[in-house]
Amino acid sequence: MAEYLRLSADDAVRYFPDIGALATGRCPGCRGATTTERFIKNGFPIVACDFCGTLFANPRPTVGQMSEFYRDSASARYWANTFFPAVAEARRSKIFRPRANRALELAGNNGGLPQTVIDVGAGIGLFLEEIGRLNTAIGLRAVEPGRDAAESCRAKGLEVYEGFAGDAVADPAWHDSADLVVSFEVIEHLAEPDDFVGDLGALCRPGGLVLVSGLCADGFDIQILGERANAVSPPHHLSFLSQQGARALFERCGLEVIVFETPGQLDVEIVARALKADDSAVTDPTLRRLLLDADDAERASFQASLVEQGRSSHMWILARRPY
Ligand SMILES: [Zn+2]
Repeated sequence: MAEYLRLSADDAVRYFPDIGALATGRCPGCRGATTTERFIKNGFPIVACDFCGTLFANPRPTVGQMSEFYRDSASARYWANTFFPAVAEARRSKIFRPRANRALELAGNNGGLPQTVIDVGAGIGLFLEEIGRLNTAIGLRAVEPGRDAAESCRAKGLEVYEGFAGDAVADPAWHDSADLVVSFEVIEHLAEPDDFVGDLGALCRPGGLVLVSGLCADGFDIQILGERANAVSPPHHLSFLSQQGARALFERCGLEVIVFETPGQLDVEIVARALKADDSAVTDPTLRRLLLDADDAERASFQASLVEQGRSSHMWILARRPY
C-alpha cells in the first residue's frame, strides 16, 4: 500500500504538473458553488462545500484526462497488476464475502431477493462470484471497462459488458435490466458523479435498487486526519460526499435514498496508527488519550458509536428507482 501511495503522489506531479490550470467545478453532492479550502494533497487543493460539507479536489482533471491517467499511469498499473492480485484472495473473505451477504440482506429487507444483479466496476468479478455462492438462482452481470478484468469475469462464467456504465445503458439488453445494481468504491474517483449515478439508475428496472459504497467526508478518519488520511488520494480519489451531499446527488439523479449507513470498521484503528506514526497527527488531548491508551474493548465501542452516528468514512447508500 505504501508503494501504491508513493506512486500516486509521483503520478499526480507527472500527469498534472500545473494543477492551477485544470478546470474547477461545483460541489459533486449538492452542486453548491461556495467552498472553503481545507488542505492540499498531492498538489490538489481539497475544498469543503460550505453548504453540505462534501470534500472534493478543486481544480481537478476532466474525465478525458482521468481516462488517460487510468490507462497509463504507474500507480493505476501497480494497483491492477501487482497490489490487487496479491491481496485478492485475502480480500475475498474479508471484504467481498461480507459485502455480498450484506447486499442481499439489504435487498431482502427492501423488496426481496434480486433475480438479476449488475456490478458496475466489477473488477475481476469477486463480488458477483460471492453472490453466486450465496444464491445460484441469481443472474450475474458485470460492467467492467478494463480488458483483462473483463476477461477474468468471462472466465468465471459471468455475463460481461466490457465498457463503461454509460455505454452499457445504451445497449437495450442492459438498460432497465437488473433488480439490483451495485457499484463499490467507484464514486470517489469521479469529480462529476451525476452521469454515473444516472447510469446506475438506468441499468436498474423501475422499482429496483441501486447500492453504492464509497468514502464519506463525514467520516472520523477523514475529518481527523485531513491531508494525512490515506483515503484522500487525488487524483485517484477526487470526491468525498457527505451524507447530505450524497442524498442531494441521488435525488437529483432521480433515485430515492432508502438507507444511508456508514458500516466502516477501521476508522479508530486508522487514526490510532497514524498517531503512533506521527505524534502531531492528533492534537485534541481527550482524543489522544482515547487513541493511545484505550484497550481493545474501549476502541471497539468507540468505533461502534461512530457507525451508529453515521460517522465512519466508509458509506453505503441504498436507493430505489421509482416506478
Ligand atoms: Zn455541497
